[in-house]
Amino acid sequence: MVHPKNLQRLIESLVKLPGVGPKMAERFSYHILLAGSQEIDELIEAIKEIKNSLKLCSECYTPTEKDICAVCSDNSRDKTLICVVKNTSSLNAIERTQKFNGLYHILEKIISPLDGTFPEKERVKRLLDRLEKGVMEVIIATDTDTEGEMTSNYLAELIREKGVKVSRLGYGMPLGGTIEYADEITLSRSLEGRKEI
Ligand SMILES: [Zn+2]
Repeated sequence: MVHPKNLQRLIESLVKLPGVGPKMAERFSYHILLAGSQEIDELIEAIKEIKNSLKLCSECYTPTEKDICAVCSDNSRDKTLICVVKNTSSLNAIERTQKFNGLYHILEKIISPLDGTFPEKERVKRLLDRLEKGVMEVIIATDTDTEGEMTSNYLAELIREKGVKVSRLGYGMPLGGTIEYADEITLSRSLEGRKEI
């Protein structure tokens, strides 16, 4: 089906969002087209506001209103432990287990030959720099699919070179599993049963 030019433009913008396919982008676009102007104004305002008020934590890349996020600046957290995650959704899934009291490091981009992506140099360098601050162990909690494993192997080598222990989520995480959709019990067990790699 051929869409009017402006509708097509919106669909193409929405399809860039993670997890949104062409059909869903089309549904969103029609919803927006038919929605009341107040609803649309609110959506536009919320998008603008998030860009104006939030930035990324200069330590771990979590979205925050300050320079350093709430987790990194919390003195009750174990600063000798860093958990590397793909994105904020994975971080939130691990936080929900209440079994992890260390710090995080968000990659956002992982190794994917198919999508042609690679973790940003700056984020990897920041992680390696953070290890100098008394970090004893890095838990790599990327997904257990091929891309997650490739990313894990790549980072593990760099971290081991720094003389820091590296571990990977253990029992219960199915092969090809996604951290952000794993249930709390599986994720808790997996954290507790992590294995050194
Ligand atoms: Zn942080």
